[in-house]
Amino acid sequence: MGQLEGKTAVVTGGSTGIGLATAKRFAAEGAHVFITGRRETELEKAVAAIGNATAVPGDVSVGADVDRLYERVRERGQGLDVLFANAAINHLATLDELTEDMHDAVFDINVKGTFFTVQKALPLLNEGASVILTASTAAESGAAGMSAYGASKAAVRAYARAWADELGSRGVRVNVISPGPVNTPMWDAAFGDRAEEMLKAVAAGLPPKRVADPDEIAAAVTFLASPDSSFVYGANLYVDGGLNQI
Ligand code: NAD
Repeated sequence: MGQLEGKTAVVTGGSTGIGLATAKRFAAEGAHVFITGRRETELEKAVAAIGNATAVPGDVSVGADVDRLYERVRERGQGLDVLFANAAINHLATLDELTEDMHDAVFDINVKGTFFTVQKALPLLNEGASVILTASTAAESGAAGMSAYGASKAAVRAYARAWADELGSRGVRVNVISPGPVNTPMWDAAFGDRAEEMLKAVAAGLPPKRVADPDEIAAAVTFLASPDSSFVYGANLYVDGGLNQI
């Protein structure tokens, strides 16, 4: 029996990177996984790779889209056991470069999107459900060009503290995963042609001298999703190669 046998899971941003790796793990552990994201073709490819999955296209920063996602989950009739709020973007820009549009986009998707993702799931969450929010080492360690992103991730971490307290009495656990550098399309989006060079430079500063594979984050998320973490509430689990730990 898998750790998530018969469970229903939602992964936002589940068509690439950490979200896709986690959706695959959840399905391998026996869950049916709903994934959402903005690009239909990517979602369909991901469903084929995951297996036991349903794609519901949508933007997490648009309330009506998140409602549509949960309507599909509701129709399945088994509630929701695992919610991985993973979708996010980064706009690399120093303070003098950061525009209002960039700032709004980062906060709309990373912060408001996480709020919609969890608030709108409330009627569906089963007793013992696990909610995992995605922060980042960037929430606590500053780097040039990462202020809006880092601030958005600090907000996500703060959400988890209060929501863990609010939902704990319903038997729902809320925790945070904080990855360090992971080789995903987010680096291409942020750095374009320089992504590989940047990943190498970051890797050199880490104890293992490499960045993470998305599946290494997925393994930790699966721990938080499973009954193995049944007394873990409001925690922030770093999977960062030591970046923020030493
Ligand atoms: P990624 O770009 O592959 O994944 C992000 C996913 O979110 C994509 O599938 C994207 O399509 C989706 N998405 C973006 N905006 C959306 C929206 N408005 N609505 C729905 N879906 C949307 O990158 P990733 O690295 O796998 O990122 C996953 C999570 O991990 C993010 O929260 C990111 O901030 C976090 N993270 C990543 C790293 C890293 O180094 N890659 C480090 C720390 C934290």
